[in-house]
Amino acid sequence: MYNINDIRNDFPILSRNVYDKPLVYLDNAATTQKPLCVLDAMREEYLNVNANVHRGVHWMSQQATELHEQARETVRQFIHAAKTTEIVFTRGTTEGINLVASSFAEDFMKEGDEVIVTVMEHHSDIVPWQLQARRKGIVLKVIPMSDDGVLDLEAYQQLFTEKTKIVCATQVSNVLGTINPVKEIVRIAHEHGVPCLVDGAQSAPHFKVDVQDMDCDFFVFSGHKMYGPTGIGILYGKEDWLDKLPPYQGGGEMIDHVSFEHTTFERPPLKFEAGTPDYIASHGLAVAIDYMNKLGLEQIEAHERELTRYAMEQLSQIDGMKIYGPKEHHDAVVSFNVGNIHHMDMGTLLDRLGIAVRTGHHCAQPLMDRLGILGTVRASFALYNTKEEIDALVAGVKRVSKMF
Ligand code: PLP
Repeated sequence: MYNINDIRNDFPILSRNVYDKPLVYLDNAATTQKPLCVLDAMREEYLNVNANVHRGVHWMSQQATELHEQARETVRQFIHAAKTTEIVFTRGTTEGINLVASSFAEDFMKEGDEVIVTVMEHHSDIVPWQLQARRKGIVLKVIPMSDDGVLDLEAYQQLFTEKTKIVCATQVSNVLGTINPVKEIVRIAHEHGVPCLVDGAQSAPHFKVDVQDMDCDFFVFSGHKMYGPTGIGILYGKEDWLDKLPPYQGGGEMIDHVSFEHTTFERPPLKFEAGTPDYIASHGLAVAIDYMNKLGLEQIEAHERELTRYAMEQLSQIDGMKIYGPKEHHDAVVSFNVGNIHHMDMGTLLDRLGIAVRTGHHCAQPLMDRLGILGTVRASFALYNTKEEIDALVAGVKRVSKMF
């Protein structure tokens, strides 16, 4: 049963006040709040079984290792990967993409080779490739979109040349809410013999992801955007690719044998996990996934889709309202501007009413250029938001609009 009052009680921070007003937290695409079970599990682990993982013969180290490796299995099931060895713990989406960009470009790209990205990528799926472009002279090509934020798949097909080496696409735009047809994007990439990385930062928190069905070669997401702690994320990679890619960082845990003359590496995933991992956070992430599973991914999705539909319907009735992104296939993010009101003014005044939204370019400046704007106001929803909170947002936007 999806009991919103019970759910909200799991997140005590939601009942606090800011500026003497009840908090309305609508900045979930940036980060979500954490349920008590996640906080308790992490505290419990620090209190009772804190020890470094993988290296110890002693009891606590083995307990901590077990929790860490169980978390890998929980993540495997969550995205329906074939094997736990395909699950690499990272610090987040950004680190996952940097890992792939660095290791892939190192061994599989040379000067003049091309990477295809979409015009709606987050900076974290653009800049890592640009760093490689500087280092290796590779070239970025961009899948365009329609004015309402739908990718142009015909144009995508035309971008391939014999120099195309990898395709990178976000599953859900963090600005437009567009749900991209990633399965089709992957299929087309494979038709050209090219692997595909899917950015799941804004999809994994909201609906069921199946990496085997999608057939993507890499999939990345962040724990903190799905009720887990900060500092933990996941890189899924097909076994074959993880075996082929060179290590990203060197250090402890990722080696098989080291001498001053020659070092051999562990097999994946440890090959990509140099140093002490955040094993407390991996456990926290697993508890967050269990929490989502208990509520049911389908119920979460239905709840958030209804909130999104309601928000778009209500906001669109405000004079001068411009909502970005498609009407269909739109996930739990609504970006907008009202008349000539600067997005920062809108965000700052909403904040004074207790309403937390994000303003600015949302780490997607090339997308802002495409839309011909400097930024938007963005409301983004999570499993604990309510229609009453959207009513508060709508009333707040109306009130601010009247002031201008
Ligand atoms: N990709 C998308 C689509 C995002 O929305 C974000 C964060 O907002 C990221 C990547 C980067 O995530 P993180 O900062 O957790 O690494």
